[in-house]
Amino acid sequence: MNLILLGPPGAGKGTQAAKIIEKYDIPHISTGDIFRDNIKEGTDLGKRAKEYMDKGELVPDSLVIEIATDRLTKDDCKNGFLLDGFPRTVDQAKALDEFLAGRGDKVDHVLDIEVPKEELMTRILGRRVCRKCGATYNIPNMPPKVDGICDVCGGELMQRADDTRETVENRIEVYDSQTKPLLDYYKEAGVISRLDGTTGLENVFGVIVGILGD
Ligand code: AMP
Repeated sequence: MNLILLGPPGAGKGTQAAKIIEKYDIPHISTGDIFRDNIKEGTDLGKRAKEYMDKGELVPDSLVIEIATDRLTKDDCKNGFLLDGFPRTVDQAKALDEFLAGRGDKVDHVLDIEVPKEELMTRILGRRVCRKCGATYNIPNMPPKVDGICDVCGGELMQRADDTRETVENRIEVYDSQTKPLLDYYKEAGVISRLDGTTGLENVFGVIVGILGD
């Protein structure tokens, strides 16, 4: 099962990803997480990516494609994967298709989670992420049991460095101009399903399971 999660920043991709990988037992591949890990470790890749991420811009295709396809060659991706945050441009999508075709594989489903623009800013500014395990919360929609502490591992919750009002505005604009064209690309391929991301996380997940099957 080769899956892609699409949708603007704040649509709930990360939250749904956590549920999908648990149910279908496939790895979660988030290019944003790969970059954040590299920034934390102070690698060269992290330094290069940070320049773009801090401004809410896209990291150049050549760099992202190399990282994503390299991750897809790992053993745990043999029986499928869930891509979250990749591809984000038509050129990335084409490169992914070529890479998969090279091993007789393809994208099976693209799940596009739609949320109106007005709601995205509130959601993102309320987002809190566990510093240790990466679990995501939302104030006030999905708060942790204890303020500032992760329910899963007891780690400290923080705000992502790029979850500021200014950066988010840019990320939403970038999504509209560079990522939205992907919807047509995958519509033509006949693999996309559009989901209403405002109906609550359990409902959205129910629809996803309806599409993917048990
Ligand atoms: P995310 O965690 O998916 O919201 O990504 C955070 C940031 O990482 C984005 O705003 C981009 O700067 C960068 N990034 C992540 N994935 C990609 C991608 N596929 N193409 C370009 N930039 C990306």
